[in-house]
Amino acid sequence: MKSNNGFYGQFGGSYIPEILYSSQQQILKAFEEAKNDPDFLADLHTQWQQFSGRPTPLSICANLTEHFGGAQIYLKREDLNHSGAHKMNNVIGQGLLVKRMGKKRVIAETGAGQHGIATALVAARLGLECTIYMGAKDIARQYPNVFWMKQLGAKVIPVKTGAQTLRDALDEALRDWSSSHEDSHYLIGTSCGCAPFPEMVAFFQSVIGDEVRQQSMAQFGQLPDRLYACVGGGSNALGLFLPFVEDENVSMVGIEAGGKGLELGEHSIRLSHNLGSPGIAQGFATMFLQDQAGQLQETHSIAAGLDYVGVSPIIAHLADTGRIEMSYAMDDEVIDACTLLLKKEGIIPALESSHALAGAFKDAANLPKTSRIVINLSGRGDKDIFNLAKAVQDETFPEFLGEYLATYKTPEQTTEEIA
Ligand SMILES: *Cc1c(COP(=O)(O)O)cnc(C)c1O
Repeated sequence: MKSNNGFYGQFGGSYIPEILYSSQQQILKAFEEAKNDPDFLADLHTQWQQFSGRPTPLSICANLTEHFGGAQIYLKREDLNHSGAHKMNNVIGQGLLVKRMGKKRVIAETGAGQHGIATALVAARLGLECTIYMGAKDIARQYPNVFWMKQLGAKVIPVKTGAQTLRDALDEALRDWSSSHEDSHYLIGTSCGCAPFPEMVAFFQSVIGDEVRQQSMAQFGQLPDRLYACVGGGSNALGLFLPFVEDENVSMVGIEAGGKGLELGEHSIRLSHNLGSPGIAQGFATMFLQDQAGQLQETHSIAAGLDYVGVSPIIAHLADTGRIEMSYAMDDEVIDACTLLLKKEGIIPALESSHALAGAFKDAANLPKTSRIVINLSGRGDKDIFNLAKAVQDETFPEFLGEYLATYKTPEQTTEEIA
């Protein structure tokens, strides 16, 4: 979507320290040139195809459609991307841009670790140095992802300031970038941050909606009636929505994380229900969850990828103008939607994507049988095995973990035994 000098209505902009201005302008220029360069676009499509397995299918869910007895339900299978989520679309795009700008190193911050893994994968493939900032608390909670980042050759730096989570990691990544921007690129993982990042990430993700357009025409000869996507930072939602923004007959719904309840700290609802308010932080203006003094607040979601205090300025603007409807799903509704998809369709959805499922399932029965809805299945759920096992109260899982732990020897123990 075209911005007005980086702004979308009252949202967006570029609120950065003076020292980063030249690098920000360099990215702006490189992106403007690259997106109009047929060679760059051909390269991008080749990498998407050969590294990430695109195009992903648009699949009808016949069993679920029958189950609800209303709209015909389709899934856009972003879960089938390499590394199991849409994040790859953006990371490949920015990785190629880094090569084009002649930089040698990428920096990223990550909360749950999914963006960290995607960045480390692409850095390895493109021969870039990679440093990932991650809150010490998040490292402890998400160690399997950290393990993979390290195996992929990335340097993972634990951030021990503040709450030791995503926000603190973001501050550290910005600090690094301020002193390293000559040879390093800050690879932002969602459609947020200073201009041109929101537009650039949305551009790379728009391959999702572009494919859905073509696949819809090929499969049923017209556009879908209604689109659903979960909204964390907003990149998978914009990827699906933006290619349809001018199609007035296509309605769009963004689903936020309702978490455990509507009390501050229990959810990540920034747009629906008037819970967020406009503010400026992290380099841009958007709707944030903040107190009267503008202090950003704690957030919660059962899906780590939706647990974010701000949101894309493009989403904030489209919600503000009424082009997209915003809603939310609670943690328990998300678990129900996830288990329903497992049982009815044999697909394992990410808990993030299960928010989009929950939102769509609420509407499906009340929509006409002739209507078609497309739900963006942003990622696969293998990573959520621990959370889901807990949520469905699987009794054998703790036993398994105990057994496994008992057989796990630390290097020290092994040495002692040998001695
Ligand atoms: C990271 C993530 C999200 C949230 O990010 P957006 O920028 O809002 O798309 C959603 N789904 C999955 C599977 C993710 O990994």
